[in-house]
Amino acid sequence: MTCKEAERLVMPYIRDELTDEELKEFLEHMESCPGCRDELEIYFTVEVGIRQLDSETGNYNIKGALEAAIEQSRQRIQAVRLIKIARYSVTTLSVMALIITVLLQCRIWMQQGLL
Ligand SMILES: [Zn+2]
Repeated sequence: MTCKEAERLVMPYIRDELTDEELKEFLEHMESCPGCRDELEIYFTVEVGIRQLDSETGNYNIKGALEAAIEQSRQRIQAVRLIKIARYSVTTLSVMALIITVLLQCRIWMQQGLL
C-alpha cells in the first residue's frame, strides 16, 4: 500500500468502514510508515476530540484511545485469519478423510480379489 492509498483510508478507518483486507494492509502500512502514523494520530485526535465534546468525559486519553483502536483492529484481523485457517483445515481434513476411505475400500476389494 502506498502512502497516498493509506491517506485515503484514514477517515474510513476512524469511522470503522474498512473491509478486512483494507484494514490489514492499512495497519501494516501504519506500522512501517511513521509519517502516515502521525497523520492517523492527528486525524484520530481531531475526530475523537469532536466526539468528546458531545460526551461528558473530561480527561479522555486520546493517545491511549488510538492504541486501543489499533489493538482492536489487530484482534479483528487475527480473528479473520483464524477463521480462514480453521476453514482451510476442515476442508483439508475432509479431503484426507475421503481419500483414506477410498483407499481402505480399495484394500477391501483387493482382499476380496475384486481388483
Ligand atoms: Zn505512508
